[in-house]
Amino acid sequence: MYCYCCNQNYAGLFSSLCDPCHKIRHLQSVYGVDRVLEVLQNVLVRDHSKQTLKIDAELKKEKVEIEKKIACIVTRSAKNS
Ligand SMILES: [Zn+2]
Repeated sequence: MYCYCCNQNYAGLFSSLCDPCHKIRHLQSVYGVDRVLEVLQNVLVRDHSKQTLKIDAELKKEKVEIEKKIACIVTRSAKNS
């Protein structure tokens, strides 16, 4: 049976999604459908040569946000102890 989402890859007998689409679905559950769509549109709707630069920029942006959250958690836990 072909994948219900991409309709290109074999999904298996007991699954409706192929492995890559399972990974996309997992990202949607972690980041939300709107955020995943926003990143895909911002990154993929570009010249191929500029996609790598945009991917690096998106990863840096995500890294900064994660580091801010971690710093906030560390500060809060230091105040509580
Ligand atoms: Zn698929």
